[in-house]
Amino acid sequence: MTHNPYAPPESSLENSYTPSSQPVWRKGKMVIMSPGAALPHCCVKCNATLPKPPKPRTLYWHHPLLYLLIFVQIVVYAIVAMIVRKKVSVAAGLCPAHRKRQLLGIALALGGLAGGFWLTASAFSNGQNLLGALGILLIVGGIFGGFLMARVVYAVRIDATEIRLRGFGKAFLDSLPEYPG
Ligand SMILES: [Zn+2]
Repeated sequence: MTHNPYAPPESSLENSYTPSSQPVWRKGKMVIMSPGAALPHCCVKCNATLPKPPKPRTLYWHHPLLYLLIFVQIVVYAIVAMIVRKKVSVAAGLCPAHRKRQLLGIALALGGLAGGFWLTASAFSNGQNLLGALGILLIVGGIFGGFLMARVVYAVRIDATEIRLRGFGKAFLDSLPEYPG
């Protein structure tokens, strides 16, 4: 690309883009980027500038129809999913405030999990089946909640040309250009 002397000063873009020249777009609540692109070094929830560049994480995706295999055989599903899943490395960062909220959420989920185990064990040994069932619910909720809190952003589609992600905050999304497609 040749230099365009009439282009707006680059400094206004510096804050929202990493050196990657590949574009990152938003489409509704989704972020769309090409495989070589990098997210801006900002909190993906509130768009605050991060004190240091975020660490990349591997995100996985496979076609949602594959989940039907769980009903056939969960082991078969796990093996097939492992083989056909696509992965991408994404550095999505959180500001200190949002990191703190995330850690608190994980701690609450783990607390629920521990409480669930305790409740289940003590309720069933005393023949209180209803309370035991509540404990199991707490265990499932704790696992699910912890999983949701631990992931920052997640892939909703990965193919050879495009990566589609979700889990972003409005401020971050609003800082991105609208997807042209
Ligand atoms: Zn934030």
